[in-house]
Amino acid sequence: MKTIIEPFRIKTVEPIRMTTEEQRKELIKAADYNVFSLKSEDVIIDLLTDSGTSAMSTKQWAALMQGDESYAGSPSYYHFEQAVKELMPFKHIIPTHQGRAAEAILSSIFGGEGKIVPNNTHFDTTRANFESTGITALDLVIEEGKDPALEHPFKGNMDLDKLEDLLRESGDKIPLIMTTVTNNAGGGQPVSMANIRATKALCDKYDKPFFIDSCRFAENAYFIKIREEAYADTSVVDIVREMYSYADGMTMSAKKDAFANMGGWLALNDDDWAEQARTRLIMTEGFPTYGGLSGRDLECIAAGLKEIVDEDYLHYRIRSIAYITEKLDAIGIPVMKPGGGHAVFIDAKKMLPHIPALQYPAQALAVQLYITGGIRGVEIGSFMFGRQPDGSEVAAPMELVRLAMPRRVYTQSQADYMIECFEEIYKKAGEINGMEITWEPGSLRHFTSRLKPVDA
Ligand SMILES: *Cc1c(COP(=O)(O)O)cnc(C)c1O
Repeated sequence: MKTIIEPFRIKTVEPIRMTTEEQRKELIKAADYNVFSLKSEDVIIDLLTDSGTSAMSTKQWAALMQGDESYAGSPSYYHFEQAVKELMPFKHIIPTHQGRAAEAILSSIFGGEGKIVPNNTHFDTTRANFESTGITALDLVIEEGKDPALEHPFKGNMDLDKLEDLLRESGDKIPLIMTTVTNNAGGGQPVSMANIRATKALCDKYDKPFFIDSCRFAENAYFIKIREEAYADTSVVDIVREMYSYADGMTMSAKKDAFANMGGWLALNDDDWAEQARTRLIMTEGFPTYGGLSGRDLECIAAGLKEIVDEDYLHYRIRSIAYITEKLDAIGIPVMKPGGGHAVFIDAKKMLPHIPALQYPAQALAVQLYITGGIRGVEIGSFMFGRQPDGSEVAAPMELVRLAMPRRVYTQSQADYMIECFEEIYKKAGEINGMEITWEPGSLRHFTSRLKPVDA
């Protein structure tokens, strides 16, 4: 069969409130043309993020009822710990309320002025946590990973030459090396097993610990299976275990590849680091057997981890992103290629060449996408990154709209509707106006700024 169907049935539904284009013009104006200020009820298809937005399964909902809320030694913790160790056999599994809490704890152990942490690409909270301790967070993704239109199977790979140069020149300043799978900030692009192994070899040569920022580990493992020849016949579970056999620790957001609405963890092998981490955990998150989560959250994660490595699910997941990417490409929409693991990226600089970078073409496209179809994506470009610490404004390297797909939430007919909306927008792309900011906060402006269309 050619058609890849959603490998699940729908048992509970959340009705979507339909709106008209006229209503949406008013709603986005009232939200000051910032999609973060929209009420989610006014959105038809919400692709703002894939984080915490997964649909849980019957087994997860059943597991939720078994959550044991004991302060210490809850069986829910042991279910969670066992489910993590099945895939990632680290000695110490430390639950946190989200991925960023795990990053904050890691930074408290390894941070300090003058230090450098290389990564393929730091995610924004990872960068912020490291930098807050004085660490310089360096991105060393391969050059191919920076060109949206270029086809390459593993655009998330670390540039090993640059990594070795850095280790040779500044090795004494590097407390650890990190790789992010998949490379979220670089378009959800995967990292190959060969690259992970080679990064580990450099870590060994220069005696550095290796950490994996693991939010989308299952999507990455599936890409290894379908794109790295030596792994074509290896199960995803075995691929995951091999990935983690090279690591000294991991950070995780269970809001991504664990089908949970909340949660995360830090895992480590070293006893001293684990002791420091647990001490910090008690101060900031909670006792080590719940770490900022309810027993029921821990149960949902444990059940979700069993489902996320299901190869029928992963086949559907990766294929559904590729489906949208390919259809958009076919109608002439400039997209990042190949499709990533969790999101489709539209190159607004190419699609709306008449809008200058500092009139935020990707924000203009995100606004138009909402007006045309009630679809909420997010700008990743000069609106998000343009403001410099000295107050000046510089164009970002890329002007992208990200459409992040929640897991197991939307159907193929909803994807077809999205593609149709793009067809509509494509026809009148030349009429779309740029945006200007009318108010902005001191930092992280994309979340709360107010904007208006530039007068035509
Ligand atoms: C989401 C994410 C994080 C942070 O996790 P939260 O649960 O949102 O705190 C860290 N790294 C990557 C790559 C992510 O995608």
